Amino acid sequence: MAVSINVAVKTYQQYEVHKVEKLLETIAGGQLDQSIDLTVNKKLQGIVNSINLLISNTNQHIEEQKRSEKSKDELITNVSHDIRTPLTSIIGYLGLIESNNYQDIEQILKYTHVAYKKSLEMQNLVNSLFEYANVQHATSKLNLTHFDMVQMLEQLSADFELEANKRNIKIIVDSKPKKIMMNGDTEKLGRTFNNLITNAFKYGAGATELYLSATKKKNEVVVTVANNGRPIPKESLPNLFERFYRVEDSRSKKTGGTGLGLAIAKSMIEMHGGTITATSDKKLTSFTIHFPLISEE
Ligand code: ATP
Ligand code: MG
Repeated sequence: MAVSINVAVKTYQQYEVHKVEKLLETIAGGQLDQSIDLTVNKKLQGIVNSINLLISNTNQHIEEQKRSEKSKDELITNVSHDIRTPLTSIIGYLGLIESNNYQDIEQILKYTHVAYKKSLEMQNLVNSLFEYANVQHATSKLNLTHFDMVQMLEQLSADFELEANKRNIKIIVDSKPKKIMMNGDTEKLGRTFNNLITNAFKYGAGATELYLSATKKKNEVVVTVANNGRPIPKESLPNLFERFYRVEDSRSKKTGGTGLGLAIAKSMIEMHGGTITATSDKKLTSFTIHFPLISEE
């Protein structure tokens, strides 16, 4: 009797192994849309669970890769478009000169001026792209130093004083406490704040004040760049940090931006373990950054 139960158990176990084997064969053949949905004996169950975990991790990895491919394709399409437009105009104007299709030196100067302007536009785009690619692929490592955030904001205020005067904007630096020491890459953070301040000047039409504020909290430093100019439409707020996103007339080049500044800013702040968010209403457009404070800071 005992012998026949043993034989039955053994046969059943062989049957389970066989079923698992069959399923593994189909999975190995590339059908990763299934898991091994079997309850089997304890010994085998451990292996089945590991295989299921492996399948779900592989699937997740494949999804991530697909997303990244798609976003790369979009990037290439956008970049090709943005490079082709000024390039067409450069070739057009230089072509007129090349084929002696001009009236006088005045006209040559006019054509070269447009070609030069368009070249600068292209250079701006390529530089931003290069910077974006660098922060994305973490080829650019953080060069951390211990620095005073309040001093950094005061320095930025001094750097932009002339520009602010020209636009009748008052820069107000506010901090609590008066010295906030933290670790960070001052060059990268400087570029990030530069973009936020330039944006406030360029797009915050009608602004009379620009606020740079820093507050030290228990576990973080909160920095805000805000202006009281024309608000950002509510529906645009969620897209601001997407690369190439611009509120004005989609690809308008009047204001000369590439729409990469805030995407770069976000990446740089995330490299510091921080976050950046935007809010905007009739009174104030604010970009708020939270930097985590590590205990020794
Ligand atoms: P780049 O910074 O690459 O030269 P950009 O300034 O157009 O180009 P972002 O800095 O990413 O790109 O800004 C995206 C868009 O967000 C801007 O085109 C503008 O429409 C809007 N924006 C950003 N900051 C402000 C602000 N302070 N007030 C109003 N609109 C803003
Ligand atoms: Mg910008």
